Amino acid sequence: MASNKRIAILGSTGSIGKSALNVVKNLSGVEAWAISGMSQTELLKQQVREFSPRFVVAAGEDAQPPIDPAEFSNDGATELLTGPQGLIQIACAPEVDIVLAAIVGFAGLESALAAVKCGKQLALANKETLVVAGHLITSLAKESGTQILPVDSEHSAIFQAMLSGQRKEVSKVILTASGGPFLSAPKESLSAVTVEQALDHPTWQMGKKISIDSATMMNKALEIIEAKWLFGLTADQIEVVIHPQSLVHSMVTFADQSTIAQISPPDMRLPIQYAFTWPERVPGPAPAMDWSEACQLDFMPPDFDRFPALRLGFEVAEQGGSAGAVVNAANEAAVDAFLKSELSFTDIVTACREVLEHHNFEAHPSFEQLVAADRWAREEISRWIAA
Ligand code: NAD
Ligand code: MG
Repeated sequence: MASNKRIAILGSTGSIGKSALNVVKNLSGVEAWAISGMSQTELLKQQVREFSPRFVVAAGEDAQPPIDPAEFSNDGATELLTGPQGLIQIACAPEVDIVLAAIVGFAGLESALAAVKCGKQLALANKETLVVAGHLITSLAKESGTQILPVDSEHSAIFQAMLSGQRKEVSKVILTASGGPFLSAPKESLSAVTVEQALDHPTWQMGKKISIDSATMMNKALEIIEAKWLFGLTADQIEVVIHPQSLVHSMVTFADQSTIAQISPPDMRLPIQYAFTWPERVPGPAPAMDWSEACQLDFMPPDFDRFPALRLGFEVAEQGGSAGAVVNAANEAAVDAFLKSELSFTDIVTACREVLEHHNFEAHPSFEQLVAADRWAREEISRWIAA
């Protein structure tokens, strides 16, 4: 690479953020120019000392105890910004080449939108952004001529596999799913699942919200919607297959029925790095496949009856409009409630479907309408729990 690429990492204290900093550390030609975190101020300070960014954003507005800028100054090398405004400032800073959107949930939407509006290359981990506002983000990206590079491992795999042909030759994309911790659990046992069991993912170490989403398979539902927007697909061009080993990260089938797969050990540093170095490939910290060991790749169709989130994902992908914002907010609120033991595991998806079915559908929602739909769906979940 010619000159250093300057990266703004939104959500550097999270699972993706930490992997991204590890990529930066092991890769020449990229620099963590700005970082941000919400509540883990000690970790954020440590990251400031190690990576010496130009800016650090403490995104929480109500930090207790209040934040002391001197503690983040890194001998004057780093400047502290606070609140959501700080995120937008670093997402749009003229010095920044790539914005990594790695904040979890709807909270990451505004800064990701700002990055695209400002014409930044967007390395997108925050899939909720596309689920909520896929139509806004993709049309803004077209307008500003900017590239959205998927970080989600499945979508990075599809992005890579798509390079084997032309867009018009793509017939289907096949999203692989590990199946999560309850792949072979009997349906009757699912309502009694504990938080600890649901957080224990067999192949990936991730943040809490996405770990629960993987257990309900709502994660795959969100990824169906994400794929629709990223690759301009219709819902019937997307298929889901269970692949417990998480080695084949997804596949693309072309018009001649040739299927191209992307294979690597489950490690998010590879898709993060590719989003940073694209269109180039360079050596990095991600591990290689070990073909000297016997290994098995299993594939099986998903069970729509045990994992009703999947059908919901296909339906919402087909509906578009405000449906994504509603199901996403309902899910965020329901997952929160499950983590606080206010809702059972199986009620997460049941509640999401009910909220979706009761909402006033808007075909072309504005940003403000999406914010309102998000708020409404969260309130509906509270009512559902209280009822
Ligand atoms: P995480 O919970 O580990 O980290 C979330 C980050 O967002 C943290 O830095 C946190 O401080 C910040 N944050 C949370 N709420 C915020 C708010 N209101 N304002 C500002 N910052 C806030 O989550 P994660 O697992 O790293 O996931 C991040 C995103 O990447 C999610 O959208 C997830 O779906 C997606 N993703 C994650 C993985 C993975 O392996 N972890 C894989 C694919 C996609
Ligand atoms: Mg994924």
